[in-house]
Amino acid sequence: MQKVLNYIGGELVTPHANQWLDKPEPATAELYAHVPDSDETDLKRAVEAASRAFPAWSATPAADRSRLLRRIADAVRARASEFVRAESIDTGKPLSVASTVDIPRSISNLEFFADAATQFASEAHATDSVALNYTLRSPLGVVGCISPWNLPLYLFTWKIAPALAMGNCVVGKPSEVTPMTAFLLSQVCRDVGLPPGVLNIVHGLGPKVGAAMSLHPDVRAISFTGSTRVGAEIARIAAPAFKKVSLEMGGKNPNVIFADCDFDEALATTMRSSFANQGQICLCGPRIFVQAPLYERFKEALVARTRALKVGDPLEQGTEQGALVSRQHFDKVLSYIELARKEGGKLLTGGGRAKVEGRCRNGWFVEPTLVEGLGAECRTNQEEIFGPVATLTPFEREEEVLAWANSTSYGLAASVWTRDLSRAHRFAARLHSGIVWVNCWMLRDLRTPFGGVKDSGVGREGGQEALRFFTETKNVCVKL
Ligand code: NAD
Repeated sequence: MQKVLNYIGGELVTPHANQWLDKPEPATAELYAHVPDSDETDLKRAVEAASRAFPAWSATPAADRSRLLRRIADAVRARASEFVRAESIDTGKPLSVASTVDIPRSISNLEFFADAATQFASEAHATDSVALNYTLRSPLGVVGCISPWNLPLYLFTWKIAPALAMGNCVVGKPSEVTPMTAFLLSQVCRDVGLPPGVLNIVHGLGPKVGAAMSLHPDVRAISFTGSTRVGAEIARIAAPAFKKVSLEMGGKNPNVIFADCDFDEALATTMRSSFANQGQICLCGPRIFVQAPLYERFKEALVARTRALKVGDPLEQGTEQGALVSRQHFDKVLSYIELARKEGGKLLTGGGRAKVEGRCRNGWFVEPTLVEGLGAECRTNQEEIFGPVATLTPFEREEEVLAWANSTSYGLAASVWTRDLSRAHRFAARLHSGIVWVNCWMLRDLRTPFGGVKDSGVGREGGQEALRFFTETKNVCVKL
C-alpha cells in the first residue's frame, strides 16, 4: 500500500492527526494508497512555513527563481515515465494520454513560467510632459492553489508555476481523488533544493483543507480550478477578506460543425473533443451541432469511430478509453445517460457500463456514448456530465445554432468548423465563451489568457495574466 505524505516546510510529513483517506485505483476499484486526511492544523502549519519562506524567496533574483523552476521541470522530465504511470493509475486515464498530454504539458508549464519570470515587465505612462506614471508589481505573499482531479499535475503546475515565478510562496491543495503526481512533485522539489516552505502541499478533503485555506487570513489569493458549485463557495468565503480570487470552473461546450468544413479533420478532432480522457476535460465539446446537409454522413462516421474505440486497461498500450475517476463519478455519468433516455434521447451507441476483462473487471468503465434527438434546453444538454457522453443535433441556420450554443449557463470553450473565413470570425465573436477554437481543439499557446465567462469562470490564467494575478499593484506618479 502506498502512502502519500504532505509537503510542509521542505519536509514530507504525515498529517498531524494521523487520519487517512482510502485511495482506490479507478481501473480496478481496488485500494492502492492512503492519502492524508489533513485538517486546519496541517493547513496552518503550511501557511506558517510559507510565511517564513516568503521574505527570502520574494527577494531572490528572478533569474534564480527561474533556474529553480527549470530544475523542477528537468527533474520531472527525468522521471517522466514514473509520473506517467502514477498519473495513469491514479486517474484511470490511458498511458497514451498521460504521456502525450498531462506530463509534457506540466513540464511546459514549469518551463514557460521559468522563462516568464525573467521576461516580466510592468507598464509606464508618460503623462504629456507633466508626469511619469509607472506600475510596480510585487508578489502577494502566501497564495493558495486548489486543483481538480481530471488533469492533476497539468492544472496544479499551471497555478503554482506562475505564483512561484513571481516570488510568492504557495500552499497547494491537489484533489484528494488524484494525489499521486503532486506527491511525486513534492519529492522532486525537495530533491532539487527548492528552499523549505516556498511550496507546500497539503492533501485532504476540499471542505476541510480547501475551506480552511479560503478562510485563512494570511492567504492573500486563491487560484481555483474545479466545479462551479465549489467555486461559488470559495468566492463566498474569500470575499469578506478581500482575497484575490481566480476561478476556473465547469463547462458544457458546443462543437459547431458547418457543412462546408473539412470533413476528415472535423471528424477526427470531434472524436478527441468528445472522448479524450473519457470526456473528463473541462474543454471537451459534448454538445455537437452539425449542419443539416452534413448531418447523416457525419453521424454515421462518428458512430462507427466511437464504436471502434478501444476501452480497456489504462496501463495497456493501445487502450484509447480508460476508467472514470471514481465510483461516485461513474454513478453520476451513468445517471445522466439514464436521464438522456428519460428525456427522449435516442442512443446511437454506448449507453452503459463497459465490460473489461481481467484485472480491470471491477473498474469504473463507461461505454463511449452518443445520443441524438434531444432539444438544446433539456438537462442532458444544459448540465455538465463530464464523461464520455455527447449529444448530436442537426441545425439549419447560423442564428439558430448560435442561440443553442449560447443557451447554457456556462461559457468556457467552443469549437467552430467552417472554411468560410467571414463566418468563422463573425460566429466566434458572438459566442458567449472564454475560448473559441476555429477548425481545431485544445491547441494551446501559453501566452494567451485562458478562462471562461458566465458560470465557467472569473479571471484569466496563462501568460502575463497569470503573472499579474499573483502580484499586487502600486501606481507611482512622479511629477516632472
Ligand atoms: P471540485 O470542485 O469537486 O474539486 C476541485 C478542488 O476543490 C479539489 O481539490 C477539492 O478538494 C476542492 N474543494 C472541494 N470543496 C471545497 C471547498 N468547500 N473549499 C475549497 N476547496 C474545495 O471539482 P472536481 O470534481 O475535482 O473537478 C471537476 C470539475 O472541474 C468540473 O466541473 C470541470 O469542468 C472543472 N474543471 C475546470 C477547468 C477549467 O479550466 N475551467 C479545468 C479542469 C476542470
